[in-house]
Amino acid sequence: MEHWDVVVVGAGPAGSAAALAARRAAPGTRVLLLDRADFPRDKVCGDGIAPEALDVLGRLGLDQATLTEGFAPAPRLRLRSPGGAAVERAMRRPAHVVPRQVLDARILAAALAAGAQLRRHQVRTLTVHPELVEIDGTLTAGVVVGADGAESVVRRRLGVAPNRPDRMAVALRGYAPELPGQEGVQVIATTEQRWPAYAWSFPLGDGRANVGYGELVSGGASRAALTEGLHRLLPGAAPEGLRAHRLPLSTQRPRQPDGRVLLAGDAASLINPLTGEGIFYAVLSGALAGAAGVHGAAAGRAYRTALRRRLGRHLRHSSAASALSRWPRVMDAAFRAAAAEQQVFDDVVDLGLADGKLTLPTLAAAARRLR
Ligand SMILES: Cc1cc2nc3c(=O)[nH]c(=O)nc-3n(C[C@H](O)[C@H](O)[C@H](O)COP(=O)(O)OP(=O)(O)OC[C@H]3O[C@@H](n4cnc5c(N)ncnc54)[C@H](O)[C@@H]3O)c2cc1C
Repeated sequence: MEHWDVVVVGAGPAGSAAALAARRAAPGTRVLLLDRADFPRDKVCGDGIAPEALDVLGRLGLDQATLTEGFAPAPRLRLRSPGGAAVERAMRRPAHVVPRQVLDARILAAALAAGAQLRRHQVRTLTVHPELVEIDGTLTAGVVVGADGAESVVRRRLGVAPNRPDRMAVALRGYAPELPGQEGVQVIATTEQRWPAYAWSFPLGDGRANVGYGELVSGGASRAALTEGLHRLLPGAAPEGLRAHRLPLSTQRPRQPDGRVLLAGDAASLINPLTGEGIFYAVLSGALAGAAGVHGAAAGRAYRTALRRRLGRHLRHSSAASALSRWPRVMDAAFRAAAAEQQVFDDVVDLGLADGKLTLPTLAAAARRLR
């Protein structure tokens, strides 16, 4: 059987970041990426990329300008609360909107240039032995990184259950002509109806926008309800190619087990419960998993510790914020506070798109507006 030091299942942002990081941690490491799809491939997503995701990729040696080439930045963010409070401000750092068909291929190309290899293969079985992991009876690996997305087979083979329906969102998205006055402005519109639910319109900078709508699976959303939600919150949008996908939220993360199998990105339920952001977490967790991959049987423990140190506090804060946000009035108060104070706005953005915390000034500002 063919043996590799590290096999990464899934060549999305988490998998390619893991492959890059494993090669950087020990350049002689033999790294194989397996993906069931041919690249470039589409991935149902809002395509919004937080600057912090580009920072992580920058530390892995990727050039931000190359990653975002052809797609102008979106410096402003417009938010609408469930009760209708609106705020539009410049973000501390601009976000980018790059179609995943383009972005993922660019990150993958960097992983291959760093010496990882790619093979088209759909993983079905995983057998964990004390000294190695066997994949589909044809390959063995010292360490396997499961970066195979929201419906992760690797996660299932570890015996980890999928997220509960109230900790899993589903969203649908398409591409539409940019609406007048939306140039450079990312729009997120929430609604009390079927709360928590929201629609977005993210301009690609080439005359098109990625538009979509999502809500919790527990609400029983059908494709018709998702499409209706999109048109209700984004009147005038005329999207084509609408496709849906699930989002396992970080409010129900599996505990990373000890041993030779690591879970990163969506496979580890690393999606922000407030915004659906997952690319930052995917590249960050992928990078940490890849670096831990060189530790063999100790990889699981090393990765769990690294992930907790880097994201643990933020994940606790975003879970607490998500619990508070179940009351639409709290969201209204937070958005009104963000409209009044730039610092509150910046804190809300950091909490929703990157690794921010629920700060005391933001809590106090929202509490004042609750009264
Ligand atoms: C509608 C929607 C909108 C979103 N909007 C945003 C947004 O604007 N910004 C943001 O940051 N995040 C957004 N997200 C979340 C984001 O898309 C994910 O968090 C991100 O794609 C996670 O990356 P990943 O590498 O973990 O998984 P993926 O990108 O899903 O990659 C997984 C890879 O694994 C492969 N694979 C799967 N199963 C197997 C198998 N058995 N064998 C081999 N290969 C396999 C797949 O082909 C795929 O290439 C959105 C999600 C959805 C659904």
